[in-house]
Amino acid sequence: MSQFSDAYDRRFYYLRLSVTDVCNFRCTYCLPDGYRPQGVNNNSFLSLEEIRRVTRAFAAAGTEKVRLTGGEPSLRRDFTDIIAAVRENPGIRQIAMTTNGYRMERDVAQWRAAGLTHLNVSVDSLDARQFHAITGQDKFYQVMAGIDAAFAAGFTQVKVNSVLMREHNSHQLATFLAWIRDRPIQLRFIELMETGEGGALFRQQHISGTVIRDQLLQQGWQLRSRSRSDGPAQVFYHPDYLGEVGLIMPYEKDFCASCNRLRVSAVGNLHLCLFGDAGIPLRDLLAADDQLDALQARIATSLGQKKQTHFLHQGNTGITQNLSFIGG
Ligand code: SAM
Ligand code: SF4
Repeated sequence: MSQFSDAYDRRFYYLRLSVTDVCNFRCTYCLPDGYRPQGVNNNSFLSLEEIRRVTRAFAAAGTEKVRLTGGEPSLRRDFTDIIAAVRENPGIRQIAMTTNGYRMERDVAQWRAAGLTHLNVSVDSLDARQFHAITGQDKFYQVMAGIDAAFAAGFTQVKVNSVLMREHNSHQLATFLAWIRDRPIQLRFIELMETGEGGALFRQQHISGTVIRDQLLQQGWQLRSRSRSDGPAQVFYHPDYLGEVGLIMPYEKDFCASCNRLRVSAVGNLHLCLFGDAGIPLRDLLAADDQLDALQARIATSLGQKKQTHFLHQGNTGITQNLSFIGG
Protein backbone atom coordinates (compact mmCIF):
# COMPACT_ATOMS: atom_id res chain seq x y z
CA MET A 1 0.00 0.00 0.00
CA SER A 2 1.39 3.37 -0.93
CA GLN A 3 1.46 6.23 1.54
CA PHE A 4 -1.56 8.37 2.25
CA SER A 5 -1.37 11.65 0.33
CA ASP A 6 -3.77 14.29 -0.96
CA ALA A 7 -4.35 16.41 -4.05
CA TYR A 8 -1.95 19.07 -2.75
CA ASP A 9 0.90 16.58 -2.50
CA ARG A 10 0.86 16.51 1.27
CA ARG A 11 1.81 13.17 2.82
CA PHE A 12 0.30 11.91 6.01
CA TYR A 13 2.65 10.28 8.48
CA TYR A 14 0.82 11.20 11.61
CA LEU A 15 -2.44 9.88 13.08
CA ARG A 16 -4.20 11.54 15.98
CA LEU A 17 -6.48 8.97 17.47
CA SER A 18 -9.08 9.94 20.03
CA VAL A 19 -9.87 7.10 22.40
CA THR A 20 -12.67 8.73 24.39
CA ASP A 21 -14.74 11.92 24.42
CA VAL A 22 -15.07 11.79 28.20
CA CYS A 23 -13.17 14.33 30.27
CA ASN A 24 -13.05 15.10 33.98
CA PHE A 25 -11.82 18.71 33.49
CA ARG A 26 -13.89 21.71 32.44
CA CYS A 27 -11.44 23.93 30.62
CA THR A 28 -13.08 27.24 29.81
CA TYR A 29 -12.09 27.05 26.11
CA CYS A 30 -13.10 23.41 25.64
CA LEU A 31 -15.77 21.97 27.96
CA PRO A 32 -16.79 24.88 30.21
CA ASP A 33 -19.86 22.97 31.42
CA GLY A 34 -18.05 19.66 31.71
CA TYR A 35 -18.47 16.57 29.57
CA ARG A 36 -22.02 15.82 28.44
CA PRO A 37 -22.69 12.60 26.54
CA GLN A 38 -24.10 13.34 23.09
CA GLY A 39 -26.07 10.27 22.19
CA VAL A 40 -22.94 8.21 22.76
CA ASN A 41 -22.45 6.11 25.83
CA ASN A 42 -19.04 5.31 27.20
CA ASN A 43 -19.13 1.76 25.89
CA SER A 44 -19.50 2.84 22.32
CA PHE A 45 -16.04 4.33 21.89
CA LEU A 46 -13.65 2.25 19.80
CA SER A 47 -12.73 -1.00 21.51
CA LEU A 48 -9.17 -2.13 22.02
CA GLU A 49 -9.53 -4.50 19.04
CA GLU A 50 -10.89 -1.74 16.80
CA ILE A 51 -8.01 0.52 17.84
CA ARG A 52 -5.59 -2.29 17.02
CA ARG A 53 -7.08 -2.63 13.54
CA VAL A 54 -7.25 1.04 12.69
CA THR A 55 -3.65 1.67 13.73
CA ARG A 56 -2.52 -1.40 11.79
CA ALA A 57 -4.13 0.04 8.64
CA PHE A 58 -2.47 3.41 9.13
CA ALA A 59 0.89 1.80 9.91
CA ALA A 60 0.72 -0.25 6.70
CA ALA A 61 0.29 3.02 4.77
CA GLY A 62 3.37 4.65 6.23
CA THR A 63 2.13 6.24 9.47
CA GLU A 64 5.15 6.81 11.71
CA LYS A 65 3.55 8.59 14.61
CA VAL A 66 0.34 8.07 16.56
CA ARG A 67 -0.94 10.48 19.15
CA LEU A 68 -3.54 9.18 21.61
CA THR A 69 -5.87 11.91 22.70
CA GLY A 70 -9.45 12.64 23.71
CA GLY A 71 -11.34 13.84 25.84
CA GLU A 72 -9.00 12.65 28.51
CA PRO A 73 -7.37 9.47 27.15
CA SER A 74 -6.08 8.32 30.52
CA LEU A 75 -9.64 7.91 31.77
CA ARG A 76 -9.84 4.70 29.73
CA ARG A 77 -9.21 1.77 32.04
CA ASP A 78 -7.49 -0.09 29.20
CA PHE A 79 -5.28 2.85 28.27
CA THR A 80 -2.02 0.97 28.90
CA ASP A 81 -3.25 -1.88 26.70
CA ILE A 82 -4.08 0.66 23.99
CA ILE A 83 -0.48 1.89 24.01
CA ALA A 84 0.73 -1.71 23.78
CA ALA A 85 -1.61 -2.39 20.84
CA VAL A 86 -0.28 0.60 18.90
CA ARG A 87 3.26 -0.50 19.67
CA GLU A 88 2.70 -3.83 17.90
CA ASN A 89 3.39 -1.92 14.65
CA PRO A 90 7.16 -1.59 14.20
CA GLY A 91 6.67 1.22 11.64
CA ILE A 92 5.12 3.42 14.29
CA ARG A 93 8.19 4.86 15.88
CA GLN A 94 6.54 7.51 18.00
CA ILE A 95 3.61 6.89 20.30
CA ALA A 96 2.53 10.11 21.93
CA MET A 97 -0.35 11.18 24.10
CA THR A 98 -1.96 14.46 25.08
CA THR A 99 -3.25 14.48 28.64
CA ASN A 100 -4.52 16.85 31.28
CA GLY A 101 -2.01 15.13 33.58
CA TYR A 102 -4.55 13.92 36.08
CA ARG A 103 -3.40 10.28 36.04
CA MET A 104 0.24 10.84 35.26
CA GLU A 105 1.75 10.58 38.69
CA ARG A 106 0.07 7.22 39.18
CA ASP A 107 0.42 5.68 35.73
CA VAL A 108 3.18 7.29 33.69
CA ALA A 109 5.78 4.61 34.44
CA GLN A 110 3.49 1.87 33.18
CA TRP A 111 2.62 3.86 30.05
CA ARG A 112 6.31 4.19 29.30
CA ALA A 113 6.89 0.49 29.89
CA ALA A 114 4.05 -0.26 27.43
CA GLY A 115 5.72 1.83 24.72
CA LEU A 116 4.71 5.46 25.10
CA THR A 117 7.54 7.59 23.68
CA HIS A 118 6.23 11.18 23.88
CA LEU A 119 4.05 13.05 26.28
CA ASN A 120 2.16 16.37 26.06
CA VAL A 121 0.60 17.68 29.23
CA SER A 122 -1.75 20.64 29.29
CA VAL A 123 -0.85 23.34 31.83
CA ASP A 124 -2.48 26.68 31.21
CA SER A 125 -1.14 28.48 34.25
CA LEU A 126 1.69 28.04 36.74
CA ASP A 127 -0.46 29.66 39.39
CA ALA A 128 -2.44 26.99 41.25
CA ARG A 129 -5.51 29.20 41.74
CA GLN A 130 -5.62 30.30 38.15
CA PHE A 131 -5.08 26.72 37.00
CA HIS A 132 -8.15 25.80 39.05
CA ALA A 133 -10.16 28.67 37.56
CA ILE A 134 -9.32 27.65 33.99
CA THR A 135 -9.70 23.88 34.31
CA GLY A 136 -12.39 23.62 36.98
CA GLN A 137 -10.10 21.22 38.86
CA ASP A 138 -7.89 22.00 41.84
CA LYS A 139 -5.17 19.68 40.55
CA PHE A 140 -2.21 21.91 39.80
CA TYR A 141 0.15 20.21 42.26
CA GLN A 142 -0.98 16.76 41.15
CA VAL A 143 -0.18 17.65 37.54
CA MET A 144 3.23 19.06 38.54
CA ALA A 145 3.96 15.83 40.44
CA GLY A 146 2.93 13.96 37.29
CA ILE A 147 5.53 15.86 35.24
CA ASP A 148 8.21 14.98 37.83
CA ALA A 149 7.05 11.35 37.67
CA ALA A 150 7.44 11.38 33.88
CA PHE A 151 11.07 12.44 34.17
CA ALA A 152 11.63 9.86 36.92
CA ALA A 153 10.14 7.19 34.62
CA GLY A 154 12.75 8.00 31.98
CA PHE A 155 11.16 10.53 29.61
CA THR A 156 13.94 12.88 28.57
CA GLN A 157 11.59 15.62 27.43
CA VAL A 158 8.01 16.52 28.27
CA LYS A 159 5.93 18.89 26.14
CA VAL A 160 3.59 21.21 27.96
CA ASN A 161 0.61 22.71 26.09
CA SER A 162 -0.65 26.08 27.18
CA VAL A 163 -3.57 27.72 25.40
CA LEU A 164 -2.71 31.35 24.88
CA MET A 165 -5.35 33.61 26.38
CA ARG A 166 -5.23 37.38 26.61
CA GLU A 167 -6.36 37.57 30.21
CA HIS A 168 -4.62 34.52 31.65
CA ASN A 169 -1.20 33.74 30.36
CA SER A 170 -0.17 36.16 27.61
CA HIS A 171 1.65 38.34 30.16
CA GLN A 172 3.19 35.47 32.11
CA LEU A 173 5.93 34.63 29.68
CA ALA A 174 8.67 35.45 32.21
CA THR A 175 7.19 33.02 34.76
CA PHE A 176 6.94 30.25 32.17
CA LEU A 177 10.47 30.88 30.90
CA ALA A 178 11.90 30.75 34.45
CA TRP A 179 10.18 27.37 34.87
CA ILE A 180 11.86 25.85 31.80
CA ARG A 181 15.32 27.33 32.36
CA ASP A 182 16.54 24.13 34.04
CA ARG A 183 13.89 21.67 32.88
CA PRO A 184 13.87 19.81 29.55
CA ILE A 185 10.33 20.95 28.83
CA GLN A 186 9.09 22.12 25.47
CA LEU A 187 6.49 24.71 26.40
CA ARG A 188 3.98 25.05 23.57
CA PHE A 189 1.74 28.06 23.37
CA ILE A 190 -1.32 27.18 21.32
CA GLU A 191 -3.31 30.06 19.91
CA LEU A 192 -6.88 29.85 21.04
CA MET A 193 -8.97 28.40 18.20
CA GLU A 194 -12.54 29.32 17.60
CA THR A 195 -14.99 26.46 17.98
CA GLY A 196 -18.74 26.29 17.49
CA GLU A 197 -19.39 26.65 21.22
CA GLY A 198 -16.50 28.99 21.94
CA GLY A 199 -17.23 32.08 19.81
CA ALA A 200 -17.72 34.53 22.68
CA LEU A 201 -14.62 33.33 24.54
CA PHE A 202 -12.63 33.51 21.33
CA ARG A 203 -13.57 37.14 20.72
CA GLN A 204 -12.68 38.00 24.31
CA GLN A 205 -9.46 36.01 24.75
CA HIS A 206 -7.82 35.33 21.39
CA ILE A 207 -4.37 36.79 21.06
CA SER A 208 -1.87 36.06 18.31
CA GLY A 209 1.19 33.94 19.01
CA THR A 210 3.23 36.66 17.28
CA VAL A 211 3.07 38.59 20.58
CA ILE A 212 5.10 35.78 22.20
CA ARG A 213 7.30 35.33 19.12
CA ASP A 214 8.34 38.99 19.18
CA GLN A 215 9.28 38.80 22.85
CA LEU A 216 11.27 35.59 22.35
CA LEU A 217 13.22 37.01 19.42
CA GLN A 218 14.00 40.15 21.39
CA GLN A 219 15.37 37.98 24.19
CA GLY A 220 17.73 36.02 21.96
CA TRP A 221 15.61 32.92 21.24
CA GLN A 222 16.17 31.31 17.83
CA LEU A 223 13.93 29.33 15.50
CA ARG A 224 14.73 25.63 15.06
CA SER A 225 14.21 23.88 11.69
CA ARG A 226 11.51 21.19 11.62
CA SER A 227 11.53 17.50 10.69
CA ARG A 228 8.80 15.84 8.71
CA SER A 229 6.67 14.10 11.35
CA ASP A 230 6.81 17.14 13.64
CA GLY A 231 3.67 19.02 14.38
CA PRO A 232 3.09 22.52 13.05
CA ALA A 233 4.85 24.21 15.97
CA GLN A 234 7.53 26.82 15.38
CA VAL A 235 10.13 25.83 17.98
CA PHE A 236 12.55 28.28 19.58
CA TYR A 237 15.67 27.53 21.61
CA HIS A 238 18.09 29.58 23.69
CA PRO A 239 21.58 28.64 24.88
CA ASP A 240 20.78 29.59 28.50
CA TYR A 241 17.69 27.37 28.70
CA LEU A 242 17.31 23.62 28.91
CA GLY A 243 13.70 24.00 27.80
CA GLU A 244 12.31 25.16 24.45
CA VAL A 245 9.27 27.17 23.41
CA GLY A 246 6.90 26.07 20.65
CA LEU A 247 4.30 28.31 19.06
CA ILE A 248 1.25 26.86 17.35
CA MET A 249 -0.42 29.53 15.30
CA PRO A 250 -3.27 28.13 13.22
CA TYR A 251 -4.24 31.60 12.00
CA GLU A 252 -0.85 32.20 10.50
CA LYS A 253 -0.57 32.20 6.69
CA ASP A 254 0.46 28.81 5.25
CA PHE A 255 -0.26 26.96 8.51
CA CYS A 256 -2.00 24.19 6.53
CA ALA A 257 0.74 23.79 3.92
CA SER A 258 2.73 21.55 6.26
CA CYS A 259 -0.27 19.48 7.37
CA ASN A 260 0.87 15.89 7.86
CA ARG A 261 -1.85 14.49 10.12
CA LEU A 262 -5.18 12.74 9.95
CA ARG A 263 -7.61 12.27 12.77
CA VAL A 264 -9.84 9.44 13.87
CA SER A 265 -12.50 10.24 16.45
CA ALA A 266 -13.37 8.07 19.42
CA VAL A 267 -16.33 6.64 17.51
CA GLY A 268 -14.20 5.74 14.51
CA ASN A 269 -14.82 8.60 12.07
CA LEU A 270 -11.98 9.84 9.92
CA HIS A 271 -11.60 13.63 10.09
CA LEU A 272 -9.52 15.18 7.35
CA CYS A 273 -9.15 18.42 9.29
CA LEU A 274 -9.71 19.53 12.86
CA PHE A 275 -12.14 22.03 11.41
CA GLY A 276 -13.53 19.86 8.64
CA ASP A 277 -17.05 18.75 7.96
CA ALA A 278 -18.70 15.52 9.01
CA GLY A 279 -16.29 12.66 9.59
CA ILE A 280 -16.07 9.66 7.27
CA PRO A 281 -17.18 6.51 9.09
CA LEU A 282 -14.58 3.74 9.28
CA ARG A 283 -16.17 1.65 11.96
CA ASP A 284 -18.00 -0.77 9.69
CA LEU A 285 -14.57 -1.87 8.47
CA LEU A 286 -13.11 -2.33 11.95
CA ALA A 287 -15.17 -5.32 13.04
CA ALA A 288 -12.84 -7.99 11.66
CA ASP A 289 -9.20 -8.48 10.75
CA ASP A 290 -9.81 -9.20 7.07
CA GLN A 291 -10.94 -5.68 6.07
CA LEU A 292 -7.54 -4.02 6.15
CA ASP A 293 -7.35 -3.39 2.40
CA ALA A 294 -10.85 -1.96 2.24
CA LEU A 295 -10.09 0.27 5.19
CA GLN A 296 -6.95 1.63 3.60
CA ALA A 297 -8.78 2.14 0.30
CA ARG A 298 -11.53 4.13 2.00
CA ILE A 299 -9.02 6.36 3.77
CA ALA A 300 -7.00 6.88 0.58
CA THR A 301 -10.12 7.77 -1.44
CA SER A 302 -11.44 10.10 1.25
CA LEU A 303 -8.22 12.05 1.12
CA GLY A 304 -9.31 13.31 -2.29
CA GLN A 305 -11.79 15.51 -0.40
CA LYS A 306 -9.24 17.09 1.90
CA LYS A 307 -9.30 20.86 1.48
CA GLN A 308 -6.20 22.94 1.05
CA THR A 309 -6.79 24.99 4.21
CA HIS A 310 -9.21 25.39 7.06
CA PHE A 311 -11.75 28.23 6.87
CA LEU A 312 -11.24 29.68 10.34
CA HIS A 313 -10.42 33.10 8.98
CA GLN A 314 -13.92 33.28 7.57
CA GLY A 315 -15.28 32.28 10.99
CA ASN A 316 -16.19 28.82 9.68
CA THR A 317 -15.36 26.30 12.39
CA GLY A 318 -16.84 23.32 10.56
CA ILE A 319 -18.70 20.83 12.73
CA THR A 320 -16.23 21.28 15.57
CA GLN A 321 -18.30 22.37 18.57
CA ASN A 322 -15.35 21.92 20.93
CA LEU A 323 -12.03 20.14 20.66
CA SER A 324 -12.76 17.36 23.12
CA PHE A 325 -14.47 15.19 20.54
CA ILE A 326 -11.68 14.93 18.02
CA GLY A 327 -8.88 15.62 20.38
CA GLY A 328 -7.43 19.03 19.53
N1 SAM B 1 -7.62 16.23 27.67
C1 SAM B 1 -6.34 16.26 27.07
C2 SAM B 1 -5.64 17.58 27.34
O1 SAM B 1 -6.31 18.55 27.71
O2 SAM B 1 -4.43 17.64 27.16
C3 SAM B 1 -6.35 15.97 25.59
C4 SAM B 1 -7.46 16.55 24.75
S1 SAM B 1 -7.43 18.32 24.57
C5 SAM B 1 -8.83 18.62 23.55
C6 SAM B 1 -6.04 18.53 23.48
C7 SAM B 1 -5.42 19.91 23.46
O3 SAM B 1 -6.32 20.81 22.83
C8 SAM B 1 -5.12 20.48 24.83
O4 SAM B 1 -3.76 20.87 24.93
C9 SAM B 1 -6.01 21.67 24.92
O5 SAM B 1 -5.43 22.70 25.68
C10 SAM B 1 -6.21 22.05 23.47
N2 SAM B 1 -7.43 22.81 23.20
C11 SAM B 1 -8.70 22.50 23.55
N3 SAM B 1 -9.56 23.45 23.11
C12 SAM B 1 -8.81 24.39 22.47
C13 SAM B 1 -9.12 25.60 21.76
N4 SAM B 1 -10.36 26.05 21.64
N5 SAM B 1 -8.08 26.28 21.21
C14 SAM B 1 -6.81 25.83 21.32
N6 SAM B 1 -6.47 24.69 21.94
C15 SAM B 1 -7.45 23.98 22.52
FE1 SF4 C 1 -10.69 18.07 29.05
FE2 SF4 C 1 -8.53 18.46 27.63
FE3 SF4 C 1 -10.82 19.68 26.97
FE4 SF4 C 1 -9.52 20.46 29.16
S1 SF4 C 1 -8.77 20.62 27.05
S2 SF4 C 1 -11.72 20.03 29.02
S3 SF4 C 1 -8.64 18.56 29.87
S4 SF4 C 1 -10.43 17.54 26.87
